[in-house]
Amino acid sequence: PAPEDDKPARAWIDQRGGKFVSFINGKFVTPGDKPTWFPAENPATGEKLGQVYQSTQKDVDAAVKAARAAQENWAALPGFERAKYLYAITRLMQKHARLFAVLETLDNGKPIRESRDIDVPAATAHFHHHAGWAQIMDDEFDGYEPYGVAGQIIPWNFPLLMLAWKVAPALATGNTVVLKPAEQTNLTAQLFAEICVEAGLPKGVFNLVTGDGKVGAMIVAHDGIDKLAFTGSTDIGRLIRKESAGSGKALTLELGGKSPYIVFDDADIDSAVEGLVDAIWFNQGEVCCAGSRLLVQESIYDSFVEKLKRRMQNLRVGNPMDKCVDLGAVVDKTQLDRITKLVDKAVKDGAEIYQIKDACPTKGCFYPPTILTNVEPSDEIAQIEVFGPVLSVISFRNQQDAVAIANNTRFGLAATVWTENINMALEMAPAIKAGVVWINSSNRFYAGCGFGGYRESGYGREGGKEGLYAYLKPSYLSTLSEASPRKRG
Ligand code: ADP
Repeated sequence: PAPEDDKPARAWIDQRGGKFVSFINGKFVTPGDKPTWFPAENPATGEKLGQVYQSTQKDVDAAVKAARAAQENWAALPGFERAKYLYAITRLMQKHARLFAVLETLDNGKPIRESRDIDVPAATAHFHHHAGWAQIMDDEFDGYEPYGVAGQIIPWNFPLLMLAWKVAPALATGNTVVLKPAEQTNLTAQLFAEICVEAGLPKGVFNLVTGDGKVGAMIVAHDGIDKLAFTGSTDIGRLIRKESAGSGKALTLELGGKSPYIVFDDADIDSAVEGLVDAIWFNQGEVCCAGSRLLVQESIYDSFVEKLKRRMQNLRVGNPMDKCVDLGAVVDKTQLDRITKLVDKAVKDGAEIYQIKDACPTKGCFYPPTILTNVEPSDEIAQIEVFGPVLSVISFRNQQDAVAIANNTRFGLAATVWTENINMALEMAPAIKAGVVWINSSNRFYAGCGFGGYRESGYGREGGKEGLYAYLKPSYLSTLSEASPRKRG
């Protein structure tokens, strides 16, 4: 079939002259003298989509200043007034859903089917959900107040969805925002900024600074920021924690993972195989909670792996604008090289590799879905986050053994348990040290559920009521009233 129509998205890019810049105090900035630009590329074709402005310290200062100036009035609005803006943003995201999806796919390389059916609807639902919270905020969170200005740094794997996870709770709770998208993926954040204008959001409530990690570091170091929220690699998360230590800024981190996908011998095998397609091959495996370690019970190991290999053969890798494609391109050449190196090393260390022959287009940043067997739990490939479509397979004897292997990493973001024995599933869930444990499913996200990690997967939660507390602190007024014998009415 013909690839999906990308003309409206191309026209949108052309209207902007292919230039993607910071959005500060309700306006896209005009870069000053001798600006630095870097290319925005389509990883599936190598085609240049436009150029992205590298923000300067001046821009970051201006963005923080605008966010500060807007914050008091924004927080002083009754919750139901903030809700109106969030509902308006939701409606406009729905209205422009198609444009969002195509831009996301052109920019990131993920299949249009995923951006259209998962990323954009989930991002929209997140704003809708948080509009509801804003509406009941004054009662539900009486005695709490916003931190103030939130500095938010996000990765490239779900550009719009990660924006939603950060921006929606911050705005609902009365914080204002300075957000930096990843340098690889800027397009949908630009469209989101336009929507904020269309929704009539007061100037300075949402600000966007474009640029690479250096701009991220400026946000982390800025005195005018009260709360930092970061999603990305464990290495940068660790650095941000160090850099912000002692600064008084509140911090939440959502980092890497090496999540186990555990299949017991009594599981519904066909469903477990299908679930795995979702767990490790969804979004080219560029998912922080990807089920990248398959733990299969010994007695079904051979038959399960055989079925899985057969299922993998049917996956289609290719042009992400073709809606029949299962895996698109990985985000860039750096990521492609990283995946290739890690897998080559694993094979050198003794892993057996299965890939679909000639699966990938010859041009563009494609990596085929990959199964590695003959892997030990302590091997590098079973410990390091690959962030690609690469599954390591390990066998286990019994329930105890499964828990021990599952917990044997530095991470603890997510896990899946596949069994028909509900008692065993309910024993497994608390025994696994992970922020979320899915039973007979995987990669399920709900705006109403807190998501976050144990150990080196980070701390703090995003989503649900827990996620809102990450943007609130006990207020001065409530401290006074708690101390006073005459409580506030
Ligand atoms: P990945 O390995 O997935 O690219 P990173 O952790 O490097 O993840 O990037 C996630 C986000 O963090 C991006 O927006 C990136 O620009 C930003 N970033 C990178 N380095 C720093 C830094 N030193 N300080 C703050 N932000 C950074």
